[in-house]
Amino acid sequence: MHIRKHLIFGLIFASTAALASPPLVAIDVGHGGADGGATSARGRSEFSFNREFAGVLAGTMRDRGLGVREVNFAGDIGSLAARPVQAAGSDFFIAVHHDSIGEAWLKPWIWEGLEQTYTDVKRGYGIFVSAQNPDQETSLRCASSMGAMLRRAGFEPSAWHGRKHLAADAENGVWYFDNLVVLCKTTLPAVLFEAGVIKHRDEEIELADPARQARMADALTTGMAACLFVTGKSAQE
Ligand SMILES: [Zn+2]
Repeated sequence: MHIRKHLIFGLIFASTAALASPPLVAIDVGHGGADGGATSARGRSEFSFNREFAGVLAGTMRDRGLGVREVNFAGDIGSLAARPVQAAGSDFFIAVHHDSIGEAWLKPWIWEGLEQTYTDVKRGYGIFVSAQNPDQETSLRCASSMGAMLRRAGFEPSAWHGRKHLAADAENGVWYFDNLVVLCKTTLPAVLFEAGVIKHRDEEIELADPARQARMADALTTGMAACLFVTGKSAQE
Protein backbone atom coordinates (compact mmCIF):
# COMPACT_ATOMS: atom_id res chain seq x y z
CA MET A 1 0.00 0.00 0.00
CA HIS A 2 2.73 2.36 1.02
CA ILE A 3 4.82 1.49 -2.04
CA ARG A 4 1.87 1.92 -4.35
CA LYS A 5 1.16 5.35 -2.93
CA HIS A 6 4.75 6.31 -3.62
CA LEU A 7 4.52 5.02 -7.15
CA ILE A 8 1.35 7.02 -7.88
CA PHE A 9 2.86 10.14 -6.32
CA GLY A 10 5.96 9.58 -8.41
CA LEU A 11 3.95 9.35 -11.63
CA ILE A 12 1.96 12.48 -10.84
CA PHE A 13 5.13 14.32 -9.90
CA ALA A 14 6.88 13.24 -13.11
CA SER A 15 4.03 14.46 -15.34
CA THR A 16 3.75 17.75 -13.42
CA ALA A 17 7.49 18.25 -13.74
CA ALA A 18 7.25 17.74 -17.51
CA LEU A 19 4.55 20.42 -17.69
CA ALA A 20 6.38 22.72 -15.28
CA SER A 21 8.73 24.11 -17.91
CA PRO A 22 6.69 25.42 -20.85
CA PRO A 23 8.49 27.14 -23.75
CA LEU A 24 9.82 30.55 -22.68
CA VAL A 25 9.24 33.42 -25.10
CA ALA A 26 11.22 36.65 -24.81
CA ILE A 27 9.05 39.62 -25.87
CA ASP A 28 11.08 42.71 -26.74
CA VAL A 29 9.40 46.13 -26.88
CA GLY A 30 10.92 47.93 -29.86
CA HIS A 31 12.50 51.39 -29.29
CA GLY A 32 12.25 53.19 -25.93
CA GLY A 33 12.29 56.43 -23.99
CA ALA A 34 15.30 57.88 -25.81
CA ASP A 35 14.24 56.67 -29.28
CA GLY A 36 10.48 56.57 -29.77
CA GLY A 37 10.72 54.97 -33.22
CA ALA A 38 8.24 56.01 -35.89
CA THR A 39 5.50 58.59 -35.31
CA SER A 40 1.88 57.77 -36.08
CA ALA A 41 -0.39 59.77 -38.37
CA ARG A 42 -1.76 61.47 -35.24
CA GLY A 43 1.61 62.09 -33.61
CA ARG A 44 1.79 59.15 -31.17
CA SER A 45 5.15 57.38 -30.73
CA GLU A 46 5.74 53.90 -32.07
CA PHE A 47 7.20 52.92 -28.68
CA SER A 48 3.86 53.54 -26.96
CA PHE A 49 2.09 51.32 -29.52
CA ASN A 50 4.80 48.65 -29.09
CA ARG A 51 4.61 48.75 -25.29
CA GLU A 52 0.82 48.52 -25.28
CA PHE A 53 0.64 45.57 -27.66
CA ALA A 54 3.57 43.75 -26.02
CA GLY A 55 1.66 43.92 -22.72
CA VAL A 56 -1.43 42.35 -24.31
CA LEU A 57 0.72 39.70 -26.00
CA ALA A 58 2.56 38.83 -22.78
CA GLY A 59 -0.74 38.40 -20.89
CA THR A 60 -2.23 36.22 -23.64
CA MET A 61 0.84 34.00 -23.83
CA ARG A 62 0.88 33.50 -20.06
CA ASP A 63 -2.84 32.69 -20.05
CA ARG A 64 -2.17 30.02 -22.66
CA GLY A 65 0.62 28.35 -20.70
CA LEU A 66 3.70 29.87 -22.32
CA GLY A 67 6.48 31.39 -20.23
CA VAL A 68 7.27 35.05 -20.96
CA ARG A 69 10.46 37.05 -20.43
CA GLU A 70 9.81 40.78 -20.70
CA VAL A 71 12.56 42.70 -22.47
CA ASN A 72 12.57 46.53 -22.48
CA PHE A 73 9.03 46.86 -21.13
CA ALA A 74 10.24 49.94 -19.23
CA GLY A 75 11.75 51.40 -22.42
CA ASP A 76 15.14 51.86 -20.80
CA ILE A 77 17.33 49.58 -22.96
CA GLY A 78 19.04 51.88 -25.43
CA SER A 79 21.35 49.42 -27.13
CA LEU A 80 19.94 47.03 -29.73
CA ALA A 81 22.65 44.48 -28.95
CA ALA A 82 21.66 44.39 -25.25
CA ARG A 83 18.17 43.10 -26.03
CA PRO A 84 19.10 39.57 -27.18
CA VAL A 85 21.48 39.35 -24.19
CA GLN A 86 18.53 39.89 -21.83
CA ALA A 87 16.62 37.20 -23.70
CA ALA A 88 19.34 34.54 -23.24
CA GLY A 89 17.91 31.28 -21.93
CA SER A 90 14.56 31.76 -23.67
CA ASP A 91 13.30 29.47 -26.44
CA PHE A 92 12.20 32.21 -28.82
CA PHE A 93 12.69 35.95 -29.29
CA ILE A 94 9.98 38.21 -30.70
CA ALA A 95 10.57 41.95 -31.18
CA VAL A 96 7.34 43.97 -31.27
CA HIS A 97 7.24 46.96 -33.64
CA HIS A 98 4.81 49.11 -35.60
CA ASP A 99 5.57 50.16 -39.14
CA SER A 100 6.00 53.41 -41.03
CA ILE A 101 6.79 54.18 -44.67
CA GLY A 102 9.56 55.99 -46.58
CA GLU A 103 9.49 59.81 -46.46
CA ALA A 104 8.70 60.01 -50.18
CA TRP A 105 5.28 58.44 -49.58
CA LEU A 106 4.21 60.72 -46.75
CA LYS A 107 1.57 63.42 -47.15
CA PRO A 108 0.96 66.31 -44.75
CA TRP A 109 -2.28 66.89 -42.83
CA ILE A 110 -3.37 68.77 -39.72
CA TRP A 111 -4.46 66.79 -36.65
CA GLU A 112 -5.57 68.67 -33.53
CA GLY A 113 -3.89 71.83 -34.76
CA LEU A 114 -0.53 70.24 -35.51
CA GLU A 115 0.96 69.30 -38.85
CA GLN A 116 1.47 65.55 -39.08
CA THR A 117 2.15 63.12 -41.93
CA TYR A 118 0.25 60.05 -43.15
CA THR A 119 0.06 57.50 -45.93
CA ASP A 120 -2.79 55.82 -47.79
CA VAL A 121 -0.69 53.33 -49.75
CA LYS A 122 0.67 50.94 -47.13
CA ARG A 123 -1.07 48.98 -44.38
CA GLY A 124 -1.00 45.49 -42.86
CA TYR A 125 1.30 43.37 -40.74
CA GLY A 126 4.76 41.94 -41.54
CA ILE A 127 6.92 39.25 -39.92
CA PHE A 128 10.67 39.41 -40.48
CA VAL A 129 13.31 36.72 -40.15
CA SER A 130 17.08 36.91 -40.65
CA ALA A 131 19.04 34.54 -42.86
CA GLN A 132 21.96 35.22 -40.47
CA ASN A 133 20.09 33.85 -37.46
CA PRO A 134 21.70 30.55 -36.36
CA ASP A 135 18.31 28.87 -35.95
CA GLN A 136 16.73 29.98 -39.18
CA GLU A 137 14.66 26.83 -39.51
CA THR A 138 12.74 27.37 -36.24
CA SER A 139 12.52 31.13 -36.89
CA LEU A 140 10.92 30.50 -40.28
CA ARG A 141 8.60 27.77 -39.07
CA CYS A 142 7.27 29.86 -36.19
CA ALA A 143 7.01 32.96 -38.41
CA SER A 144 4.90 31.07 -40.95
CA SER A 145 2.80 29.50 -38.21
CA MET A 146 2.06 32.91 -36.66
CA GLY A 147 1.36 34.46 -40.09
CA ALA A 148 -1.06 31.65 -40.98
CA MET A 149 -2.96 32.14 -37.70
CA LEU A 150 -3.10 35.92 -38.20
CA ARG A 151 -4.59 35.42 -41.67
CA ARG A 152 -7.09 32.89 -40.34
CA ALA A 153 -8.16 35.53 -37.78
CA GLY A 154 -8.77 38.00 -40.62
CA PHE A 155 -5.56 40.05 -40.54
CA GLU A 156 -3.92 40.98 -43.83
CA PRO A 157 -0.18 40.99 -44.47
CA SER A 158 1.29 44.07 -46.15
CA ALA A 159 2.34 43.31 -49.73
CA TRP A 160 4.42 46.50 -49.62
CA HIS A 161 7.38 44.66 -48.03
CA GLY A 162 7.90 42.80 -51.34
CA ARG A 163 9.39 46.03 -52.73
CA LYS A 164 12.39 45.92 -50.41
CA HIS A 165 12.56 42.43 -48.92
CA LEU A 166 13.05 38.94 -50.23
CA ALA A 167 10.03 36.76 -49.58
CA ALA A 168 10.38 33.92 -47.08
CA ASP A 169 6.64 33.09 -47.07
CA ALA A 170 4.91 36.03 -48.74
CA GLU A 171 1.44 34.45 -48.53
CA ASN A 172 1.66 34.55 -44.72
CA GLY A 173 3.50 37.89 -44.63
CA VAL A 174 6.99 36.56 -43.82
CA TRP A 175 10.06 38.36 -45.24
CA TYR A 176 13.83 38.31 -44.89
CA PHE A 177 15.50 41.26 -43.14
CA ASP A 178 19.14 40.35 -42.87
CA ASN A 179 21.03 43.13 -41.14
CA LEU A 180 18.65 43.68 -38.30
CA VAL A 181 20.75 43.63 -35.12
CA VAL A 182 18.04 42.19 -32.85
CA LEU A 183 17.54 39.25 -35.21
CA CYS A 184 21.10 38.32 -36.13
CA LYS A 185 22.87 39.08 -32.80
CA THR A 186 21.08 36.27 -31.02
CA THR A 187 21.47 32.51 -30.91
CA LEU A 188 17.73 32.14 -30.31
CA PRO A 189 15.22 31.63 -33.09
CA ALA A 190 13.85 35.13 -33.62
CA VAL A 191 11.33 37.23 -35.51
CA LEU A 192 10.56 40.92 -35.71
CA PHE A 193 6.82 41.57 -35.82
CA GLU A 194 5.42 44.73 -37.38
CA ALA A 195 1.82 44.78 -36.13
CA GLY A 196 0.70 47.32 -38.72
CA VAL A 197 1.33 50.74 -40.24
CA ILE A 198 0.74 53.56 -37.76
CA LYS A 199 1.21 56.15 -40.54
CA HIS A 200 -2.01 54.84 -42.10
CA ARG A 201 -4.83 56.86 -40.55
CA ASP A 202 -7.43 54.07 -40.46
CA GLU A 203 -5.01 51.36 -39.43
CA GLU A 204 -3.67 53.56 -36.63
CA ILE A 205 -7.17 53.63 -35.10
CA GLU A 206 -7.54 49.86 -35.54
CA LEU A 207 -4.14 49.18 -33.95
CA ALA A 208 -5.19 51.09 -30.82
CA ASP A 209 -8.43 49.09 -30.42
CA PRO A 210 -8.15 46.75 -27.39
CA ALA A 211 -10.51 44.12 -28.86
CA ARG A 212 -8.48 43.94 -32.05
CA GLN A 213 -5.21 43.85 -30.07
CA ALA A 214 -6.59 40.87 -28.12
CA ARG A 215 -7.53 39.04 -31.36
CA MET A 216 -4.10 39.70 -32.84
CA ALA A 217 -2.32 38.55 -29.66
CA ASP A 218 -4.47 35.42 -29.61
CA ALA A 219 -3.56 34.54 -33.21
CA LEU A 220 0.17 35.11 -32.58
CA THR A 221 0.03 33.01 -29.42
CA THR A 222 -1.76 30.14 -31.15
CA GLY A 223 0.82 30.15 -33.95
CA MET A 224 3.77 30.42 -31.56
CA ALA A 225 2.50 27.67 -29.24
CA ALA A 226 1.82 25.30 -32.13
CA CYS A 227 5.33 25.88 -33.45
CA LEU A 228 7.19 25.68 -30.11
CA PHE A 229 5.36 22.68 -28.68
CA VAL A 230 6.07 20.77 -31.91
CA THR A 231 9.74 21.81 -31.69
CA GLY A 232 9.96 20.56 -28.09
CA LYS A 233 8.33 17.28 -28.99
CA SER A 234 10.58 16.54 -31.94
CA ALA A 235 13.64 17.43 -29.84
CA GLN A 236 12.72 14.74 -27.31
CA GLU A 237 12.04 12.06 -29.92
ZN1 LIG B 1 10.27 50.00 -34.99
